[in-house]
Amino acid sequence: MSDLSLQYTENHFVSSQNLGMSSSKIRHKMVDRLCAMGLSDPRLIKALQMVPRHLFVDEGFLPLAYDESKALPIGYRQTLSQPLTVAKMTQWLFAENDISPVKKVLEIGTGSGYQSAILAMLTQQVFTLERIAPLAVEAQEKLISLGLSNITFGNGDGHWGWNENAPYDAIISAAAPETLPTELIQQLKIGGRLVLPIGKQAQRLTGYIRHEDRIEEVDLGTASFVPMLSGIQPAG
Ligand code: SAH
Repeated sequence: MSDLSLQYTENHFVSSQNLGMSSSKIRHKMVDRLCAMGLSDPRLIKALQMVPRHLFVDEGFLPLAYDESKALPIGYRQTLSQPLTVAKMTQWLFAENDISPVKKVLEIGTGSGYQSAILAMLTQQVFTLERIAPLAVEAQEKLISLGLSNITFGNGDGHWGWNENAPYDAIISAAAPETLPTELIQQLKIGGRLVLPIGKQAQRLTGYIRHEDRIEEVDLGTASFVPMLSGIQPAG
């Protein structure tokens, strides 16, 4: 039987949830709806049930925090991906990954830090890159305050990956490059998986598996993400 345990225990977030909303119940309902739409990975189900998503959205959007199909603004003209998208991408990355267990993941586009938190539950080491420095700092403070200690933050341009820490078992991007950046494939282990939206106007969510002798490409459907922009936006 496979090991279904997560990196953090069931009651890890309990002290950070007293926002006056019974968020655990609301989260379980969100996850039930996601399961009806194809979510089935037991570890991911647990992680989505545990991570307090409402702590990653602006106060004005709290009522929408657990709407499974809403992407929400996080400032700097960026968005927190809808739970359905987070579930779909993460499930593809982990559930059938040839590398078992997936120990080291690179995330491009830290944004609010919500996806980073989900990854931190599922894998030993998360490296996350964000090009907008203030977003990276905010996410880092939040994730540290939540006691998630297995995430390393960087202010960088994800087109180039993060070579110092490569190779990765898996790479995920919430920003869409126009074409596949070859560095990302190069920084993937053999058997590793990459999932990201690709394209300008009409984006496709695309998965790649790095085999010994070839790259397998899997079309995962239409997508609508913010563009992967070049260069970094430094602090202040
Ligand atoms: N996973 C995030 C989603 C944020 S949206 C979350 O859960 O909130 C995508 C993010 O990608 C934005 O914050 C944007 O600034 C960032 N981004 C865009 N181009 C990038 C690049 N070249 N390198 C790193 N991050 C980038």
